Amino acid sequence: MKIATKLIHSGVEPDPSTGAIMTPIFQTSTYVQSSPGDHKGYEYARTQNPTRNALQNALAAIENGKFGLCFSSGMAATDAVIKLLNPGDEVIAASDMYGGTYRLFTKIFEKYGLKFHFIDMQYPNNIKNYINLNTKLIWTETPTNPMMNITDIAAVSSIAKEHKIMLCVDNTFASPYLQNPLDMGADIVLHSATKYLGGHSDVVHGCLMLNDAGLNEKLQFIQNSCGAVPGPQDCFLVLRGLKTLHLRMQRHCENGEKIAQWLRKNPMVENVYWCGFPDHPNHAVAKKQMRGFGGMMSFTLTDNSMEAAMKVLSSTKLFSLAESLGGVESLIGHPASMTHASIPKEERIKTGLVDSLIRLSVGVEDVDDLIEDLDQAIGKNESTAVSKKIQREPATV
Ligand SMILES: *Cc1c(COP(=O)(O)O)cnc(C)c1O
Repeated sequence: MKIATKLIHSGVEPDPSTGAIMTPIFQTSTYVQSSPGDHKGYEYARTQNPTRNALQNALAAIENGKFGLCFSSGMAATDAVIKLLNPGDEVIAASDMYGGTYRLFTKIFEKYGLKFHFIDMQYPNNIKNYINLNTKLIWTETPTNPMMNITDIAAVSSIAKEHKIMLCVDNTFASPYLQNPLDMGADIVLHSATKYLGGHSDVVHGCLMLNDAGLNEKLQFIQNSCGAVPGPQDCFLVLRGLKTLHLRMQRHCENGEKIAQWLRKNPMVENVYWCGFPDHPNHAVAKKQMRGFGGMMSFTLTDNSMEAAMKVLSSTKLFSLAESLGGVESLIGHPASMTHASIPKEERIKTGLVDSLIRLSVGVEDVDDLIEDLDQAIGKNESTAVSKKIQREPATV
């Protein structure tokens, strides 16, 4: 079955008691047993909930996995994966990734005796320098946030397999519509469903998808023991979001491409980071493992000052200045002070995340309106630059 059909039909079936075509929100904490231990497969809602189950099955199907597990946020899903490890274990992680993941690893888990190596995953062979007998997990994110670098998932996975190390890929930026890491050998795929899967900026949710039954059992044990489970209403919202993922992603990709091209031609813009450009350093890998290039991009201005970036960030009208991404509405953000503020500046600069970098999550509005909005925001700098220049010139009488 193709993904568009899976997105609409997987995991869900009409409610047997009423025929309701949409999965009901089972807003209950417990389930009645007819005699002790005699129940319908549901005992307590931290462990099992029918709305969550439907979503877990749908999520597994769209990543071509056997199992799906839902969590109260993307970070809770990440937390569950790291809890598979023991003190002394080591993790090799991408240096350019979501700031909250870096914070969780360094500020929470290092103190429990785990060691994290942050490396540039654009060069998979780099990984080999950090592998030792304690290495238990490789963690990568592709495309990366916010520099839009690409990791070759199949290449990393073959190194991981050779050394019997688990590989987890954060697939939030691409979404299952554009990329399926399990098919390329990843052991676990993670999504912040808050982003493209939910798609409407109305829910915080995370999930894991995988194929191995033993690993699923361990993660399910963590999910139930630690308890970072989503409520049924949130599961319903993600389930509803999934049904239009393919339609939204098609438009995110179309709008993303047009805006990336437009930015590149704009004389006020210096660098545009978008993996769809044929001269992007990892374009060939992106083309090999992705079915499209998405609507996420970053750029810097020719006036590389913080002030110029701030002016653009506060001048857009359709692009809302906000954290997060992947919703139907376009967002603009400043990684250095927003999503990536928890990464020390020296670490940020190393990956190219300069203070003037601006990130866009291109939504599904009419692209002409989006370009007009960016034009007036970026153009503003030009007019002030021009007017400053005019002011400095002596008046000609
Ligand atoms: C947002 C995000 C997360 C964290 O997810 P939450 O749902 O906010 O907890 C993890 N990875 C990436 C790439 C993200 O964009």
